[in-house]
Amino acid sequence: MYDVIVVGARCAGASLAMLLARKGQRVLLLDKETFPSDFIATHMVWPPGGAALKRWGIWDEVAAADPALCRISYSTFVVGELRGPFHAVEGVDYTFNLRRVKLDEILVRAARRAGAEVREAVALDDLLYDGDRVVGVVAHEVRTGRRFEERAALVVGADGKNSTVAKRVGARAYQELEALTASYLLYAEDFPIDRTVDEVHTRPPYEYVILPTDSGLTVVNLVLTRSLLTEFRADVTKSFSAAYDRAPELGERLRASRPVTRVLGVVDLPNFYRVPYGEGWALVGDAGITRDPVRAQGQHSAFQDAELLATAIQDGLSGTTSLKDALAGYQQKRDDRTRASYKMCLDAARLEVPTPEAWAALEVILGKDPQATADFRGLVPASIQPREFFARWGDRAPVAR
Ligand SMILES: Cc1cc2nc3c(=O)[nH]c(=O)nc-3n(C[C@H](O)[C@H](O)[C@H](O)COP(=O)(O)OP(=O)(O)OC[C@H]3O[C@@H](n4cnc5c(N)ncnc54)[C@H](O)[C@@H]3O)c2cc1C
Repeated sequence: MYDVIVVGARCAGASLAMLLARKGQRVLLLDKETFPSDFIATHMVWPPGGAALKRWGIWDEVAAADPALCRISYSTFVVGELRGPFHAVEGVDYTFNLRRVKLDEILVRAARRAGAEVREAVALDDLLYDGDRVVGVVAHEVRTGRRFEERAALVVGADGKNSTVAKRVGARAYQELEALTASYLLYAEDFPIDRTVDEVHTRPPYEYVILPTDSGLTVVNLVLTRSLLTEFRADVTKSFSAAYDRAPELGERLRASRPVTRVLGVVDLPNFYRVPYGEGWALVGDAGITRDPVRAQGQHSAFQDAELLATAIQDGLSGTTSLKDALAGYQQKRDDRTRASYKMCLDAARLEVPTPEAWAALEVILGKDPQATADFRGLVPASIQPREFFARWGDRAPVAR
């Protein structure tokens, strides 16, 4: 019998298992993969993510894995461009860009070191119930097929957007929106880029996201509006190059680099919140909120939710408060923090570009002021909320006539 079984051992699950084990909980962490395990993504983590890893004392291991540390964000639109620092969180004023094949292994190792029992290559099949209450899991070993059951006071689904836990308990979704984009990327060596700069170039119907990552690699990503997908898929390699050539300077840089992978794609990109708790179960990370990857909001948010949920579980299981109230508080805090940034993300995924009037107003507000620009950036990972941003800078807003 465990206190908590966590299903899924990446950003959300491994972090949660580590934090709970450190609080003295008896934790079982399961994943159907074995680590190191690759994951198709663009691997950029906003400052709240690095700040979490520092708080947890595992930053040195991450730093030793050679992430790109980017202190400048550079975005261009047809109407203009923004270049400036990131909004600092607890002294972290950079994104860290580390491939998941490295990062997730570090997180799993940290969970194990903290005392969580980690079982890799184990897939969850079903949940065990006592009446309406979830009391455990039914799983099997991927290599041998051996089925087994384990019991716990709480089962947490950290098993990603297609969460089996969420499906089995029928977690209700809200704020849902169908996929707006598809995302294709390759890794390249020798890409001509300043390795301290994250680049995003919005040119509907595409967005070009170019991010330095570890080992001298660069993630060269193309976001495309959903309506182009069928045509694009007819020849992914050719379509990818042709799309880059529509922005000639970017196409030229791509040709000057050495791709080391084929073009990889992710097209299953839904947007939703799920109610993240019920009788004997909870959800964290993408299992609880999934949003388009266009603004790279998933990883730091998974860390923050893991931290919130660990505190709620500890409070609930230790009797400081009822588990139900503690988990309700977790949902409330998660939703309050992410509400505005979720909307911004969906606007970005529609590849909406500022009108010349909106751009002119933004330029007046930001006024080439690095701190205002950094604060504006901080809206994306929700390290600053719109009300704080406008309280600081709103008096520069052009007066409505
Ligand atoms: C194309 C793309 C690019 C992205 N780029 C970025 C980015 O640059 N920055 C960023 O912050 N976010 C990015 N994201 C989002 C980010 O990848 C997710 O938000 C993040 O992975 C969520 O972490 P998680 O731990 O909640 O879930 P996941 O990373 O999805 O991990 C879930 C784990 O659960 C396991 N699992 C699932 N089902 C079972 C089962 N039945 N039994 C056992 N184990 C199971 C899986 O094997 C997996 O290891 C991107 C996403 C995509 C698709």
